[in-house]
Amino acid sequence: MTEQAIRKVGFIGLGIMGRSMAANLVKAGFDVTVWNRTAARMQPLLEMGARGASSPRAVAEASEAVITIVTDSDDVEQVLFGPEGAAHGARPGTVVIDMSTISPERTRRMAARLAEKDVHMLDAPVTGGDVGARDGTLSIMVGGDEGVFRRCLPIFEAMGRHIVHVGPSGAGQTVKLCNQVIVALNLLAMGEGLAFAAKAGVDLEKMLSVVQKGAAGSWALDNLAPRVLRGDYAPGFMVKLQQKDLRLALEAAAGMNLPLLGTSLVQQLLRSVQAYGGDDDGTQAIVTALERVGNFRLRGSADERPRENK
Ligand code: NAP
Repeated sequence: MTEQAIRKVGFIGLGIMGRSMAANLVKAGFDVTVWNRTAARMQPLLEMGARGASSPRAVAEASEAVITIVTDSDDVEQVLFGPEGAAHGARPGTVVIDMSTISPERTRRMAARLAEKDVHMLDAPVTGGDVGARDGTLSIMVGGDEGVFRRCLPIFEAMGRHIVHVGPSGAGQTVKLCNQVIVALNLLAMGEGLAFAAKAGVDLEKMLSVVQKGAAGSWALDNLAPRVLRGDYAPGFMVKLQQKDLRLALEAAAGMNLPLLGTSLVQQLLRSVQAYGGDDDGTQAIVTALERVGNFRLRGSADERPRENK
């Protein structure tokens, strides 16, 4: 491996997170080549100066490091090892950086497969949401070889602010699942706090403005509660993706014989949101399940929108 700085970065997956992260790499001066399954989503990046590629393989052929941020473990496997996958275009020494949230175990297996081709893999999932992706303030937890991590640090610094190498391959994904357990319970805490306030008849904005500055403060209170009060259930982070992450956390916990009581409860509440057609809503829609359970309404409730009962 040469110690030259990496300038050519490939980017696969221009969804809610990826499009902003790729844009920040372009703005930081990297030579960025992008690919997205739905090609139209590449257009804004091309207008900013990124190059477009016809496949993940072509991205890897043009790049020294290839970032993937797609949905689940199968999707990462598809863009890496599918017929036109990046692994087929990667030269020895290339670094694959997977920033999706996927299974730690599947990550280790993919890293081992890539290592057979002398291709390095870092798992580097993120937290900070759509806002952090846009502002370049993500937290990034990285698993894999520490020397490879250090070489990729300028890439991470273009997208995030708190960047920590947390251990060997898969450790980044494990830390991300810890994060998702905590996020899930903060989401429930936000929802129950709003429910209490609404039922008690206190002013929701005033309650929020004071408690978010004290011991109850959280990312959910700062970023999601205001959306709830505006009746804004657009994602941010989609319910179906949070459910994917809770499935991954609960599967890993089961493998360790670890009960996760609160996490299971949040999963069931979000399942109720899904049952009412809310798969693509932001996770703040957990309040709509609490409204049904507690027979109350918050202002701007998603329940006031027409919904197909699935
Ligand atoms: P998203 O908006 O649904 O974007 C998903 C992206 O993956 C799209 O570009 C999609 O392509 C692509 N994709 C999915 N399956 C694919 C496949 N089999 N082959 C090729 N491309 C595929 O999701 P997101 O919110 O950006 O999340 C992406 C990842 O980041 C997920 O693992 C999520 O858990 C994680 N994450 C999200 C957040 C957040 O707040 N949103 C925060 C932290 C971590 P198309 O455009 O063709 O659909």
